Amino acid sequence: MPKMTERPKHIIVAGGAGFLGSHLCERLLAEGHYVICVDSYVSGDKANLKHLSRKMRFRSIAHDICSDLEIDGQIDQIYNLACQASPPRYQQDPTHTLMTSVIGTDKLLKLASKHSARFLQASTSEVYGDPQQHPQKEDYWGNVNCTGPRACYDEGKRAAETLCFDRLRRGEADARIARIFNTYGPRMRPDDGRIISNFILQALRDEPLTIYGDGSQTRSFCFVDDLVEGLVRLMNRPENPGLPVNLGNPGEYTVREVAEKVAELTATELVLEDRPLPVDDPQRRRPDIGRALSLLGWRPVTELSDGLKQTIDWFRGSAPVLPVHASGAGRSPAPALSANAERR
Ligand code: UDP
Repeated sequence: MPKMTERPKHIIVAGGAGFLGSHLCERLLAEGHYVICVDSYVSGDKANLKHLSRKMRFRSIAHDICSDLEIDGQIDQIYNLACQASPPRYQQDPTHTLMTSVIGTDKLLKLASKHSARFLQASTSEVYGDPQQHPQKEDYWGNVNCTGPRACYDEGKRAAETLCFDRLRRGEADARIARIFNTYGPRMRPDDGRIISNFILQALRDEPLTIYGDGSQTRSFCFVDDLVEGLVRLMNRPENPGLPVNLGNPGEYTVREVAEKVAELTATELVLEDRPLPVDDPQRRRPDIGRALSLLGWRPVTELSDGLKQTIDWFRGSAPVLPVHASGAGRSPAPALSANAERR
């Protein structure tokens, strides 16, 4: 259980209605802080905040961080999680994706300077692109195709890191950078097109699991509660580390292994459907978390099977009605999983 802190802080969570952001808001409120969620609701979902909306210390503002944001009163901390993170979704409006990371981060950094608030930027393992170093350490500069379809996200996040470090060097903001690796858990968008949400929904609907490419590419999956713990530790570390910090689970799995695990945990027959590999899809990804361990004393504690079970239970209970967003040929919308559909 999170500890109650001595003095409640006033904290902004940009992107607070999203998958990660809503878990972070929940955690900060549980610690007794005042939380302002700022979200454009492009990919964030009010349903993610429903259980928080009546809390005295919680407030939400519909706002796109690409526009100026004025907040009266005290602000102690700003978490910037505002940006779509799912490849098919962030590629739908690539210019807005890029601008959210560049203009949006700049605006929030200015807000942080004005209020002398500490700032945490949610960066990403995508800054390493299709990495030539494995596992990825923070001092690796990456291998990003700056003209490819993923560049709007990858280069935006790289530029946001640059903004943070320039402000830090100039003494204008106490900015910290978390490089977040693939994260999963309850409240992932059902139509996000991510591997975990797709496979779970496909299994629960008795549809084939869509494997992009030959399925030998790898990812490392961190459960959302572990990730939130890492973010909070990085923000609350008294000294700014002055370096980006990887946050992720080093357990590495091929896409095929993930499919097998999901089939096993949902007790469904493993049926696969081959789809083309998306352009610039990284072949391998696994964090080196030595820095997070030494600076924050952080390491993930949730095994993939345990986290997947919780995620499967959530998908079963929340009854999403939207179709899975799988690449390649179109598919007809799947039926709802239960009658008490609530999300959309
Ligand atoms: N993937 C897949 N089938 C799906 C969705 C994703 O094989 O239905 C693959 C995708 O090509 C990638 C990996 O799973 O290699 C992780 O994809 P995701 O979109 O979850 O995250 P990211 O590529 O951003 O790490």
